[in-house]
Amino acid sequence: MREALSWTQSARFLTTASLLTQLPAPGLPEVAFVGRSNAGKSTAINTLAQHRRLAFASKTPGRTQHINLFELGPADAPDARWADLPGYGYAAVARGAKLRWQQVMADYLAHRHALAGIVMLVDSRHGFTPLDRQLLDFVSQRVGTGEVKLLVLLTKADKLSRNEAAKSLAAAQKVLGDLATDHADISMVLFSALSRQGLGDAALVLRQWQAAAPAQLADPVDPAGLADPDAGAPLSPP
Ligand code: GDP
Repeated sequence: MREALSWTQSARFLTTASLLTQLPAPGLPEVAFVGRSNAGKSTAINTLAQHRRLAFASKTPGRTQHINLFELGPADAPDARWADLPGYGYAAVARGAKLRWQQVMADYLAHRHALAGIVMLVDSRHGFTPLDRQLLDFVSQRVGTGEVKLLVLLTKADKLSRNEAAKSLAAAQKVLGDLATDHADISMVLFSALSRQGLGDAALVLRQWQAAAPAQLADPVDPAGLADPDAGAPLSPP
């Protein structure tokens, strides 16, 4: 567990992409962090990385629609990337932009070759929202085959009593049960950045994904690693 944590603490900023086509060519296994706005995604990334401001909580609509990439592993031999996807469900984003952004995210999650795993942040007090479930639908096929692994972090667990925590886990288990297959690799962890509950377990899962992921080879015909030719739609509202 200590090794896993020192690995997650190696996370550093790589680049920001505002178009899917601007993402670096897939060369390393990638893990996407997704979640409803305010679910605790930035805080979780910063806690895993033990870095106060690596991921920014971006509540301003204009700043929400970028993918921030982080790199992990030794500086001279990086071995994984994390992609911080914009939080969804932010009320102030116009409906059209929202829908378009959902499509872009769906394209990334459904087609990005390098994607080895998805970390979904869900507020443990509220459980899966309709948008969370929609996103699970987008990825259910890749999760079902085991091509993409899934870790659900039930965040802010420090706010729950023991009884509420058990209920939160059971409710999440029920939703995730629909995704289970013989090949699916799905886990969930009660997580708190405040108490550090679940931090070591989350780091272990991420470290294991990295160790299990095959090295990605860049595809010269499809440098962005997206099979979908329409996936280069702009992420920002017009
Ligand atoms: P994001 O929009 O998903 O990136 O969410 P943030 O990381 O900005 O967190 C949203 C709010 O929840 C902030 O006020 C955080 O301080 C708070 N928060 C995040 N994680 C925790 C946690 O583990 N415990 C508690 N009590 N609050 C948290």
